[in-house]
Amino acid sequence: MKKDGLLDKDLLKQYYSIFSNKNNLKDFKSYYLAFVRFINQNREFFTDTILEKWDLNVLITLNPDNYLVKNPDISLPLEEKRLRGDYDDIDTLVMSIRDTLWDMITIYSGKDCPITPNDELRYILLKNNDGKEKLLLECAACGWTENIDGNEYNDPTGTVYPVNKKDLERYFLS
Ligand SMILES: [Zn+2]
Repeated sequence: MKKDGLLDKDLLKQYYSIFSNKNNLKDFKSYYLAFVRFINQNREFFTDTILEKWDLNVLITLNPDNYLVKNPDISLPLEEKRLRGDYDDIDTLVMSIRDTLWDMITIYSGKDCPITPNDELRYILLKNNDGKEKLLLECAACGWTENIDGNEYNDPTGTVYPVNKKDLERYFLS
C-alpha cells in the first residue's frame, strides 16, 4: 500500500477482474471462492490484523457448501455494476468483501432490529477463546445484539461466526 493510504492500483485491478471473469459469476459457490482466492493471493495487503478486525479470517476459512443460503439477496449479473466503485482504503475494500460474503451465507431470524426497524436481525455464533459458543441475533447495520430470548446481549467478546442450518437445528431441535 502507498503511504498516502490509497489502495494499491494493481490490487484494485485484480479485485475488479473478479467480476469480469464469467466463471466466478456462474454460481454463488464460485463467486464466494473467487473472493477467498483473491484475499489469499494478496496476503501482503490482507494481513492477519486487518482480516481479524473485520472477522474476515473466519469467512475465508468456511466451506461454502456448508454455509451458502439458497437464495442470497444478490444478483450475480449485476455485481460488477454494484461493486465497481471507489474504495478509499484497504478497510473499505475489506468491509465491502465482508458484506458481500455475508450476503451469501446469512440466515435471517425474521425479527426486526429494535433500533433500526428496517433491518432484519441475523443469526450469529459468538465463540469465546475458551471454545464456548453462543447463538445470538445481530443487526448488521447498527450492531445491536440480543439473546435468543430477546434481551440485549452486552458482552460481545469473541469471534463472530455465521450460522448454518445444522447449527440452527442443533439449537432448536435439541
Ligand atoms: Zn439495527
